[in-house]
Amino acid sequence: MEQYGFLGLGIMGSAMAKNLLKAGFKVTVWNRSQEKCAEFAALGATVAATPAEVTSSCSVTIAMLADPAAAHAVCFGPEGALEGIGAGRGYVDMSTVDAATAQEIGAAVTGKGGRFLEAPVSGSKKPAEDGTLIILAAGDRGLFDQALPLFEKMGKKSLYLGEVGRGAQMKLIVNMVMGGMMTIFCEGLALADKAGLECSDLLDVIDAGAMANPMFKLKGAQIGQENFATAFPLKHMQKDMRLAVALGDQLGQPLFSASAANESFKRARSQGFSDQDFSAVFKAIAS
Ligand code: NAP
Repeated sequence: MEQYGFLGLGIMGSAMAKNLLKAGFKVTVWNRSQEKCAEFAALGATVAATPAEVTSSCSVTIAMLADPAAAHAVCFGPEGALEGIGAGRGYVDMSTVDAATAQEIGAAVTGKGGRFLEAPVSGSKKPAEDGTLIILAAGDRGLFDQALPLFEKMGKKSLYLGEVGRGAQMKLIVNMVMGGMMTIFCEGLALADKAGLECSDLLDVIDAGAMANPMFKLKGAQIGQENFATAFPLKHMQKDMRLAVALGDQLGQPLFSASAANESFKRARSQGFSDQDFSAVFKAIAS
């Protein structure tokens, strides 16, 4: 039976790797903070000491890391993933990064005879737990086909978008829209509160009409209860806004709303909300 690798056991990676184990795949895990591996050993995973140990012993290795710096460090660092990549081995980076980072990692992997696929995901902690993510893959088509049985345990829909970089771009654009929606939503909630309107009434009005969506429904109720328990860390949302604005720069597309939303998330980070849920941008907006 084939052995699969998994690098990065954060909020998303831990839920995704658990779904692979539950489905009966043989998985070797690694995480920078080694203590997070213990529960995976209890679930039957093999625990590796370095990313290189994972990639050299697995036919396909998945990475789910914080940001471009983390994806870069795990690939290129000492005893990093690249050291273990040999002919035919697959590396699937599911982290949200910019296209240039995905292309740099992809070129390094293929330069060593390996195969590379980027596959960032849309969907948060709950869809990761439920195995209902949307997977936005691009790169080696054969590796996509090979990884599909794994994707089917982690997600409900897997798209193949073409050459490396297309997945990153699609993901950043989707999250840019989400970040913009969240900030205007929070401004509405803050304005309603200052006007003396009941926020619950505003939520009801929005939910009854054409603007209704699951995110406003879920996050609106949580904001009302001052519940900012982290599903999607605010620092990662701001990273995605920053990378989307940079993509706009690169392509000459004005992004007035996204740039303004990015400033709100930056302000929330400077106020200490980085590790809270991205809906905590409400506190920076309402203050
Ligand atoms: P997270 O909980 O912060 O986990 C980040 C992971 O990256 C951890 O395993 C962390 O290791 C590792 N890491 C960070 N810096 C590192 C470094 N320099 N070297 C090695 N490992 C490093 O984040 P997450 O929510 O799981 O998100 C993971 C990725 O998925 C991000 O790109 C995010 O944008 C994207 N994403 C998240 C969501 C969501 O709702 N949460 C949804 C879609 C996409 P430690 O455990 O040692 O810190």
